[in-house]
Amino acid sequence: MGIIAISGCATGIGAACRQRLEADGYEVVGIDIKSAEVVADLSRPEERAAAVEQVLERTGGTLDRLLLCAGLGGHIGDNAKVASVNYFGVVDLLGGFFPALRKGADPSAVVICSNSAQIAPQLGESPLVAAMLAGDEDEARRLADADTGQGVYMMSKNAVGRAVRRRSLEWGTAGVRLNAVAPGPVDTPLLREGLETPGDGDLIRAFKIPVGRYGTPAEVAATVRFLLGPEAAFVHGAVWYVDGGADANVRPDSF
Ligand code: NAD
Repeated sequence: MGIIAISGCATGIGAACRQRLEADGYEVVGIDIKSAEVVADLSRPEERAAAVEQVLERTGGTLDRLLLCAGLGGHIGDNAKVASVNYFGVVDLLGGFFPALRKGADPSAVVICSNSAQIAPQLGESPLVAAMLAGDEDEARRLADADTGQGVYMMSKNAVGRAVRRRSLEWGTAGVRLNAVAPGPVDTPLLREGLETPGDGDLIRAFKIPVGRYGTPAEVAATVRFLLGPEAAFVHGAVWYVDGGADANVRPDSF
């Protein structure tokens, strides 16, 4: 099946994807702050660059698939870190691995976004999202730090979805498919910690999920597996919601 690099493979959605893709026969090189072949703190630019280098040393400079799951919830109380890991930890790895993916066999990549990315569309117009999309990490960290609301996580995911879609022409022309998956609440350590955090927990609980339950990491992994594989050959630049209908319920007339 080929070689895949997976960030955020230690727990939650990334761990479920790892398990599923290994069962399919992929060789996985994991990147995480813990329990991975390549240990790196993706909040730090130099560790992101080192992680790319270490993965490519292991794979001989080529990569067939890429899956970026690493992320932090807003509940951690460090908005600058959320901005760095959730946005720059994605785009720096996309950029770092792009040349290697171009040399891969039937290459494709998936980024884990969030259904919260579009829940409050005005957040997409914020200076923080603009700084992220402009690639200005210092300014993004400054703005994130100064933000006392609960929107930094959503803004980071809004920027991630747009970063994926903005690459559709360059990546598609190069023969590398790139898509995003936007989960709703999924039963992982990130969700459980969010539920236990005052304020964040109430916000999550207020979110109506039409199917009446949280998702499982394995359900997200099933969609990721499809998008990475040959049956999704014409799916590119897409953001797939895996959220029990929550986004449709909030924004029935937008898609
Ligand atoms: P999780 O906490 O179980 O997994 C996150 C992974 O990222 C962990 O393995 C963690 O060690 C790693 N990580 C965190 N900070 C890191 C850093 N600085 N450097 C390197 N690795 C780091 O959470 P999850 O729910 O599985 O989250 C996976 C992705 O799914 C995240 O991007 C998250 O935003 C997204 N997501 C989750 C939900 C949900 O409800 N669980 C909903 C929407 C989107």
